[in-house]
Amino acid sequence: MDDIVPALKSKLPQLRGRLLANEPLAPLTWFRVGGPAQALFMPEDEADLAYLLANLPREIPVTVIGLGSNLIVRDGGVEGVVVRLGRGFNETKIEPGHRVRSGTAVPDLRVAKAAQEAGIAGLAFYRGIPGAIGGALRMNGGAYGRETKDVLIEARGIDRAGSIRTYTNADMGFTYRHCGVGDDVIFTEALFQGTAGDPAAIAVEMDEITSKRETTQPVKSRTGGSTFKNPAGHKAWQLIDAAGCRGLIVGGAQVSELHCNFLINLGNATAADIENLGEEVRRRVKDNSGVTLEWEIKRIGV
Ligand SMILES: Cc1cc2nc3c(=O)[nH]c(=O)nc-3n(C[C@H](O)[C@H](O)[C@H](O)COP(=O)(O)OP(=O)(O)OC[C@H]3O[C@@H](n4cnc5c(N)ncnc54)[C@H](O)[C@@H]3O)c2cc1C
Repeated sequence: MDDIVPALKSKLPQLRGRLLANEPLAPLTWFRVGGPAQALFMPEDEADLAYLLANLPREIPVTVIGLGSNLIVRDGGVEGVVVRLGRGFNETKIEPGHRVRSGTAVPDLRVAKAAQEAGIAGLAFYRGIPGAIGGALRMNGGAYGRETKDVLIEARGIDRAGSIRTYTNADMGFTYRHCGVGDDVIFTEALFQGTAGDPAAIAVEMDEITSKRETTQPVKSRTGGSTFKNPAGHKAWQLIDAAGCRGLIVGGAQVSELHCNFLINLGNATAADIENLGEEVRRRVKDNSGVTLEWEIKRIGV
């Protein structure tokens, strides 16, 4: 892809964060596949990100990524600017009333731990979700009967025009693994509500989550978590199993033997292998059960 970085730097002279041309994205995702970002931007702070969004020519697309645990980056890479939040969005604070305020680059695990140490119950489910808080907001991430919708008071975000605003829980339009806020909005901060709890008891709950995960999910593999949403009244993994897809291979990608709603990069998969495998699973499930599976994993790029 053309190197747009020099032109962007001259158009946006007050940009402070790092802006890199043709930067590989595969190492930033769990699947470890896919092409580069035409430009990768790591803003210094919220004001820096707002400056980019307000001044970047409208025809240049912007895509945000978190820890890449729910993401297939396609082999041709991602055109325009890919935003990845880091330092500057990485703080967690305990606030009065059993609340936790967190930047959106903070891994979910760290929010769970901070809450546990402060004796705040209700956020332990984040222990098992390997993304960062921005991804949890966008995906309404959840586990074990709880989801982000149940614990979020409000979130801050910046739209493509560079305007910063606060979204209440109701504004977020959460449904199952979905947030209704416009796709252009990049979340920067979240405020969570917990309840009083005993740190030792919460620690036990978190340990149980860890061991449950390790025995039921391929958590040490190159994967993207649940590939498809559970259709109403069904479990995606059961439909996939019934369609005979457990262990199915396309190129270097395989349907996990351990949890068949997980796809795995066996080592040398391309993004196309993984996406084609997912589409093959959808076809077979449709033929077998009549149910159309909907992707939960986000696919970006060309
Ligand atoms: C082993 C494994 C287990 C998993 N288990 C669970 C589970 O139990 N429950 C569950 O819900 N998920 C689970 N997942 C999926 C994944 O961890 C979650 O969807 C997570 O919330 C994604 O966060 P992320 O930071 O990795 O986002 P990414 O994968 O990088 O991005 C996901 C989406 O969020 C958007 N996004 C990221 N950051 C921001 C931001 N700051 N502002 C706006 N949008 C943003 C991206 O544009 C993209 O659309 C699992 C994944 C793996 C690999």
